[in-house]
Amino acid sequence: MTKKKNGNWAVTSMTLAVSATFASACTSPTTKTAENTVAGGRNPASVNSLCHPTPDDAAEAARVLASPGRYEDKRRARLRAMVQAYMLGAELLDHYDEMLDSGKPLAKIRKSVTYLKLLALHQIRQSIRHSLEDIYMVKIEQEVQTNPGFRRDEVVRKYTSDAGEEIQDLIRGGPDTLYARLALLDVKESFEDLQDYYVTCDHTVFQRNFDKRLATHNADVEELKKGAKVKRNAHKYFEPLRGEKGLHVADLVDRLAREMRDHVEFENLGRDPQSGPIYKAGVGTYGNMTGNGFPKGTWALTYDDGPAGTTTKVIDNLKKHDMKATFFMLTQQLKMAAYAAMGKREIAEGHAVASHSYTHANVPKLSAAGRQHEIVDAVNDFTTILGVRPKYFRLPYGSGTNVTSVRQIIADQGMIHVFWNVDTLDWQDKNPDSIVQRALKQMNQLGKGIILFHDIHPQSVVASEKLMGYLKDPANHIRTVTIPEIVDEMNAAAAARP
Ligand SMILES: [Zn+2]
Repeated sequence: MTKKKNGNWAVTSMTLAVSATFASACTSPTTKTAENTVAGGRNPASVNSLCHPTPDDAAEAARVLASPGRYEDKRRARLRAMVQAYMLGAELLDHYDEMLDSGKPLAKIRKSVTYLKLLALHQIRQSIRHSLEDIYMVKIEQEVQTNPGFRRDEVVRKYTSDAGEEIQDLIRGGPDTLYARLALLDVKESFEDLQDYYVTCDHTVFQRNFDKRLATHNADVEELKKGAKVKRNAHKYFEPLRGEKGLHVADLVDRLAREMRDHVEFENLGRDPQSGPIYKAGVGTYGNMTGNGFPKGTWALTYDDGPAGTTTKVIDNLKKHDMKATFFMLTQQLKMAAYAAMGKREIAEGHAVASHSYTHANVPKLSAAGRQHEIVDAVNDFTTILGVRPKYFRLPYGSGTNVTSVRQIIADQGMIHVFWNVDTLDWQDKNPDSIVQRALKQMNQLGKGIILFHDIHPQSVVASEKLMGYLKDPANHIRTVTIPEIVDEMNAAAAARP
């Protein structure tokens, strides 16, 4: 559809125009990872009504644009990388479930290479996805500006369809087409985000499309349930183009997983402090809850990474089941008026709200300024927007729980860090039923604790509602609590002990 007017179009002025457009726009609606984040450089708490988000790295995007061949390489490499990352995740998830089924203790599973790789992969997938979105955003803007007749939504639709065909080509003859189709779904989700947030600038579109999306999603999931098993090393078939730094997914995951081993606290995951004051802000075990020390049968349902378009459904479901949850939110999301309103609704309906950093960065990898932004600025701006100061914080990927200097910043803000002991891995698994099964297996082993969901995926909305039914069933003798509720209760009980 495009078209260079001459061999070497006005790249420089084009690039400037594109950058200027982004610079005057608002913050990006989606979670971003450390590599892409210009820490400390963001505007403070002003809430905007969101129109076009800005790519995380407009300068980099502009450089790519200035050389169309390189742009094409990058774009294709990222598409392939997304498919490969999805496949790799499917393999890792299978292994995680095998370990669970074999009765291996969760404390051991947490320390396994497989779990570390899942944490690493989660981060890398987000990074690839946002980098791809950035490239497309610039590309869309370029098309619209050089062709005044083009509408953004039409351009996105065209790109979605093109990307779909490209991935279908990758998949044809692949080792496991079903999983690859699910990977395609993942890429499409990314385009839907672009469409909803970037093009229409209206998060309600997401909600209107929710049921339709879910239907498509469920059709793929139904096939998955027929027992397809991902083939070991299937991800290698979708290996991204080599030679570009940072885009070799499997190698990146290996490297990052090794780093995560030092950044995540695993030793004390089997025990919360048993003598009081049980929980308080600090760098010791008492400042990092896992839920392992909760009274038997007590569970806290927690949601990360929102608010997003899907969050409204989660709040509706909680209301229907008369349950309260704890939401760990990204300040970046709260800076958009529609999402700030969701955060306020959570508070109004009795849910607990907490901070999950500014942009979902891998905090220990950041400079001092970056860490300050992700924790201190995040909390200050959160407070300005929602009118309540968070007392609880969750590091993205749990990364930094084992790094005293990071934990100190959290403690200095008077916050307790909240880990989890049940990981649903709902960001990788598109099947709500297997998400619920994975949660139940872990819950049965532990008997109490903190369940981790992400309120930004359709499958998580469905899976967590199913789990609400289980938690509420009197036959299961479960009490659900918010994090502040249980901390206050346990600390009061400890203080009353002789
Ligand atoms: Zn998160």
